[in-house]
Amino acid sequence: MTEQRTFQTRLLDNSHKVDGQNGAVSVPIQQASTFHQHDFDQPGKYDYSRSGNPTREALEDTIAELENGARGLAFASGMAAISTAFTLLSKGDHVLISEDVYGGTFRLVSEVLGRFGIEHTFVDMTDLEQVATSIQSNTKVLYVETPSNPHLKITDIRGVVQLARAHGCLTFVDNTFMTPALQRPLELGADLVLHSATKFIAGHSDVVAGLAVAKDKELGDRLAFLQNAFGSILGAHDSWLVLRGLKTLHCRLTQSSQSARQIAEFLKKHPSVEEVYFPGFTCHPGHSTHAYQAQGPGAVLSFRLKDGDAVRQFVENVKIPVFAVSLGAVESILSYPAKMSHASMPIEERLKRGITDGLLRLSVGLENPDDLIGDFNQALEKIHEVRHKLAVE
Ligand SMILES: *Cc1c(COP(=O)(O)O)cnc(C)c1O
Repeated sequence: MTEQRTFQTRLLDNSHKVDGQNGAVSVPIQQASTFHQHDFDQPGKYDYSRSGNPTREALEDTIAELENGARGLAFASGMAAISTAFTLLSKGDHVLISEDVYGGTFRLVSEVLGRFGIEHTFVDMTDLEQVATSIQSNTKVLYVETPSNPHLKITDIRGVVQLARAHGCLTFVDNTFMTPALQRPLELGADLVLHSATKFIAGHSDVVAGLAVAKDKELGDRLAFLQNAFGSILGAHDSWLVLRGLKTLHCRLTQSSQSARQIAEFLKKHPSVEEVYFPGFTCHPGHSTHAYQAQGPGAVLSFRLKDGDAVRQFVENVKIPVFAVSLGAVESILSYPAKMSHASMPIEERLKRGITDGLLRLSVGLENPDDLIGDFNQALEKIHEVRHKLAVE
């Protein structure tokens, strides 16, 4: 019955709306490491919280329901979910992965997996021909992130899934930027969805968490085995925080995406802004693919100022957004990829990927968009003033 309801309603009207024992309209936090066994012969459903905890399980059920998958799992962080997922692979296997994946995933794949004999190739996943020609006989996973970071490049999930299936590979999708509110990769044929729930899903800059949802039970059970083996689980209290954040996900993303569009349009018209990357623009090269596979542009955009000096002027004068790593919060977050997410990347690699000193990323929060635009406008004017002063001198 719940399946026919809209996503917006299912965020609230789902199997964990009301606690079965006492009717609490909030999932109880079961802060316990171990569980008493009432029956000597018959072990209870829960024995030890690494293997299973009712609060974590409520989150796991809920995310599985929302992503339309068979089994969900909650991890200590997005990277815990992603690294545990990669251990589905074995020595000698090969993974094909988006060249502009999240920095932590890049580090895991390029610096850790190789030691366990798992090979990789980074490709431009937006180019399906390049994907097709890069698949090897030992390729087991095609790993997608769309929209990508920080250029918001769009990969055709269905196209990648078709190639993966034709070669007997699995498709993993990092769905952090979209969340199931805007994009449901399992419905497009992907096998595993991964999230940093730290971002939009929890949404309040107060918890680090990861989620994974498998389309079929067999894959979900294999991942659950690995999660228990590694112990990469989310704690009960943090699970509750993520469940609480989830309730307002639709409403937060709808508002933030609308504001992001307004801000992107403002920035595009401003003479100090050289380029704006936003999948909601019809001129964005991935626009039609994104419009097909997602229900909105999302709340993240990037833009390019002239150089590092212009960025410094802008950041020193802007007042509303926090200047920080991360994204997907109720507060707007302004990040500087060159000095934050991509600081550890060799400069040639960084520039090759278009992450120049003038590039900023903005995750739009819930402040009034007119206030944000006013703030950006005054900070951009300061760049002008500096340039003008230099020109006069
Ligand atoms: C933040 C992020 C991650 C890593 O998640 P953590 O919760 O920080 O471990 C993975 N993928 C994307 C796209 C992210 O933005």
